[in-house]
Amino acid sequence: MRRRAVPGNLVRSLTRAGRVDHCAPVSTHPRIDVARLRSDLLAFYDRARRDLPWRRERDPYRIWVSEIMLQQTRVETAEPYYRRWMQRFPTLDDLAAASRDEVLKAWEGLGYYSRARRIHDGARMVCERLGGEIPSTAQALRELPGVGEYTAGAVASIAFGEVTPAIDGNARRVLARLFDLADPSLAELRAIVEELIDRERPGDFNQAVMELGATICTPRTPTCGACPLGSVCRAKAAGTQLDRPMTKSRGKTPLREFGVAVVLDPESRLLMRRRPEEGLLGGLWEFPNMSIRPGEHSAQAARRAAAEAGAHRLESSSSTASGTLHPVRHTFSHFRAIYRPHAFSAAPVSLPEGCRWIEPPEASGLAMPVAQRKILESWRSAVGEKILA
Ligand code: SF4
Repeated sequence: MRRRAVPGNLVRSLTRAGRVDHCAPVSTHPRIDVARLRSDLLAFYDRARRDLPWRRERDPYRIWVSEIMLQQTRVETAEPYYRRWMQRFPTLDDLAAASRDEVLKAWEGLGYYSRARRIHDGARMVCERLGGEIPSTAQALRELPGVGEYTAGAVASIAFGEVTPAIDGNARRVLARLFDLADPSLAELRAIVEELIDRERPGDFNQAVMELGATICTPRTPTCGACPLGSVCRAKAAGTQLDRPMTKSRGKTPLREFGVAVVLDPESRLLMRRRPEEGLLGGLWEFPNMSIRPGEHSAQAARRAAAEAGAHRLESSSSTASGTLHPVRHTFSHFRAIYRPHAFSAAPVSLPEGCRWIEPPEASGLAMPVAQRKILESWRSAVGEKILA
């Protein structure tokens, strides 16, 4: 049987587009045997894939949850969250029926909380408007909140067997190296996958490419000797693996400092506020905090934050030695933060919308960002059993 040898036409089009200007003429490249590439890649996947809970599934809800959790998150981090999530919300109906607080609490510590809000909104949309059936095509999946091109392709191919690409960062790296492309566009990568993808096992093919990127074709130390595609990889032949794809250097991450008010009323309740639904850490609970202005002491910023949350006439707390708690550091995707907490006491007052006096044990059950939970723990250790007993 004659094997199909492409994607010469594809590579020619890439060359015309000026994307592979370093490339030798197509005729001098070893031609890629697509059938062989598919079988080598799928054999690798069958033999060496990691045993992950979502890989034993074809349930589209479970695939959807796993794909959302894995965005910007390492497998080792996401896996325990996935297991707990499936115990708490085993079906789409369970998720749709849950409150926002329950969903955010289950997501607590995983970061990028908009993902949790969107999948919750998506579950409700499927239950209320689509009769409980998750759409089966990538195009229809894109209508759901928070489902972008990658997630739609992954769910459609893995859960429903649609022949469609799913290109995450790992897949981009593998494909860029395989074809020795410096800076391929998503459209170019889609065109490559559409030619290469296995028609019988599209979901496994997509996962195999991503698995190769996660375990063998890694960013800084690709183990080309163990790679099932080593014999046809153009970057390997050219010695350009580490330059493919080119990475854009990110500037230094800015540092922001916050004064944080840990305010206690005479009934030993903590002043907390809920962040607005949209935006960074949306819907999570936190201690009032504000950016420290140039030349300002962190305690002043903390007092401003407390005042904005409704607490005026603050006294430095007598339950901590100086009213000052340990600073807490946290790195977000686009900035680093240092939170400088100060403990105060205040008379109970009526609070603006979104702010509440909360008993400390209840605070433990709220969905909070990691840094805010550290502040709560720091305050607990500072006050010991005095207040909490
Ligand atoms: S041969 Fe090396 S660079 Fe090429 S795909 Fe395999 S691991 Fe990546």
